Amino acid sequence: MPELPEVETIRRQLAPAVEGRVLERMEVLDARWCDPAPPEEVADAVRGRRIERLSRRGKYLIWELEDEVYIAMHLRMTGNLLVVPAEEDAADRPHLRVRLVLDSGDRVLFVDVRRFGTGIVLLGEAALEEYFSSRLGVEPLSPEFTAEALRELARGRKAPVKAFLLSQERVAGVGNIYADEALFRARIHPLRPVGTLKRAQIVALRDAVVESLEAGIDAKGASIDDFRHTDGAQGSFQDRFLIHLREGEPCVRCGNTVKKMRAAGRGTYVCERCQPRPRARAVSHTR
Ligand SMILES: [Zn+2]
Repeated sequence: MPELPEVETIRRQLAPAVEGRVLERMEVLDARWCDPAPPEEVADAVRGRRIERLSRRGKYLIWELEDEVYIAMHLRMTGNLLVVPAEEDAADRPHLRVRLVLDSGDRVLFVDVRRFGTGIVLLGEAALEEYFSSRLGVEPLSPEFTAEALRELARGRKAPVKAFLLSQERVAGVGNIYADEALFRARIHPLRPVGTLKRAQIVALRDAVVESLEAGIDAKGASIDDFRHTDGAQGSFQDRFLIHLREGEPCVRCGNTVKKMRAAGRGTYVCERCQPRPRARAVSHTR
């Protein structure tokens, strides 16, 4: 699933094509996308509005339209946004769920094989803030994401650090890839209870999360599954993984064999020499 760097990549690619344009209409071709809101209602709310800005919160892409009308999109597993000129906008494109028609003639197409992607229209900034306040924690690339803030979030928690990082309500935008990469960089085992991290480890983890996400953005995201750029191209971060998907390979830091294990229900990659397992007592404590 696209994580923060993949959504940020899409935002950066899409912004020049859409910011300042008028959204002539949005055609919701699959009612499940905006469920429970009726597609006609959603289309009416956005029709003819200027797109002031394209922004992002966690893994959400936010279309900021004039008069504080917002479309918040989540791409989920297989969603992609493609920009195409009108003449390439075939009516029978497979898996097309939403079409946004701009006054430039360009179309932004939401194509989504597995149909898990969602969209919601929010009216007014208060509604936008309320929507995200219950769903998303601190934005990791914002100035608010300090070691002190992370320590506060982690304090007293027994959850394994990987599960903690994946929980969007604590730190927004980190998923399976970037959690593995950050924990490896910070030399922290994924099963370590987050509340037991030492101050220096919290500082290292905060920096590692930021560095991993920034490396992902630099590489224009990772295309290990369906993630594509707005022109259909792939990201390249999958070629730069330090630990993720490297099972059986030598650790890039120490040469020890990289192991695959389960953590937070996800396939997790770890070098147990660089990232020592928590002591048995600490582990049993979390179960
Ligand atoms: Zn190692």
